[in-house]
Amino acid sequence: MNKAFVREQESDVRHCPFCGSLGQSVEKATLDHWLRPEARKQIGDSAMFCSQPQCDAAYFDSFERVVTVNQLTKSVYPKSDEAPICGCFGLTCADIDADIADGGVARTRAAVERAKSPDARCTILSANGQSCVTEVQRYYFKRKGGV
Ligand SMILES: [Zn+2]
Ligand SMILES: [Zn+2]
Repeated sequence: MNKAFVREQESDVRHCPFCGSLGQSVEKATLDHWLRPEARKQIGDSAMFCSQPQCDAAYFDSFERVVTVNQLTKSVYPKSDEAPICGCFGLTCADIDADIADGGVARTRAAVERAKSPDARCTILSANGQSCVTEVQRYYFKRKGGV
């Protein structure tokens, strides 16, 4: 078999079967937290999160098994604007917008400080399995840049 072809197939499993965007790999604990029990059985212990806001796929694995957004235990950022951007302490986009409207950073900074503290459980409570600090900062600068 052609080696180039094999390599391409392997890298493909990191891309969402629905929208083709690059997924973010998540751990078992994150999947256990976010998936309803019946959906949990449909996917393996290591999976990828699709972070495209408009895409219905939430998680997918290397066998192209997909769990959709409506099979999660609750709404998730960035699939839903109302979902907390920080799963552990509940910072929402509205909080960040309020900071920007105030011309301050109090809410955003407090959330980032807490997310860096030992209490933070971002890698489980954030659907993408990463610290929410990156997403919080990205959203803040995106909004601020747009004002
Ligand atoms: Zn997708
Ligand atoms: Zn967090």
